[in-house]
Amino acid sequence: TEELLRKSDKLAVVGQLAAGVAHEIRNPLTSIKGFAQLMKNRLHDYNHYIEIMLSELDRIEFIMNEFLVLAKPQAVKFVKTDVHELLSDILALLETQAIINNVQIVTEFAENLPTITCETNRLKQVFINVMKNAIEAMPDGGTLRITTEQGGNELVRIRVMDDGCGIHPDRIPKLGEPFYTTKERGTGLGLMVSYKIIKDHQGDIRFKSLLGEGTSVEVELPVTQDSKNVLTVGDVG
Ligand code: ADP
Ligand code: MG
Repeated sequence: TEELLRKSDKLAVVGQLAAGVAHEIRNPLTSIKGFAQLMKNRLHDYNHYIEIMLSELDRIEFIMNEFLVLAKPQAVKFVKTDVHELLSDILALLETQAIINNVQIVTEFAENLPTITCETNRLKQVFINVMKNAIEAMPDGGTLRITTEQGGNELVRIRVMDDGCGIHPDRIPKLGEPFYTTKERGTGLGLMVSYKIIKDHQGDIRFKSLLGEGTSVEVELPVTQDSKNVLTVGDVG
């Protein structure tokens, strides 16, 4: 719990920074990107340099978008959602990346799983981040296994498992810290954003891993309570 508290304190600070900085950077960024795109086909001799500029701008844009998730939302809409539908939508998105990386996707979905109440697009972002990490952990291919089950009367448990490189036990506490990455072109923001989103859903996210064997990411989310089928919350977290 101490670990979780420390993490959420950090998240609060990063969230405040994000709200201020991300908006300020996004506007000039869009303008620079627009002009670079205009230059691209007119200045043939410089096309290579302009392409590098555009790819670096894309990277900044991507990082800013991740940061904006941390900014306080204006209004968040929680809706009753079928977990399997949500997961299937994501798997459709990731199918190509899986095939390219020689990764086989296996699902084991529980029958009669209760619905959850969530902000669908944000929750999708969590599973996209987690599944991308799983695929990236298996550079030589492998199996991405996704399971669902009910935990007691109150939760739904989703596991995303890979048989990739694994995570050193000393490194597990670092997961979700801003900018913690072991990848050459990583941002170390995906899990930070995911922790924040799961927290906003009163859920839990945990990592179990064996170095060289693989990793299991366990996400627990509260099931829909009848009195709260659909609600709109103006100010979350
Ligand atoms: P990024 O993917 O940009 O590095 P993330 O926040 O998504 O940032 O992940 C942070 C780090 O956590 C990764 O760089 C990697 O070292 C580790 N990690 C996350 N998921 C896995 C996984 N399934 N297997 C191995 N390492 C992982
Ligand atoms: Mg990632």
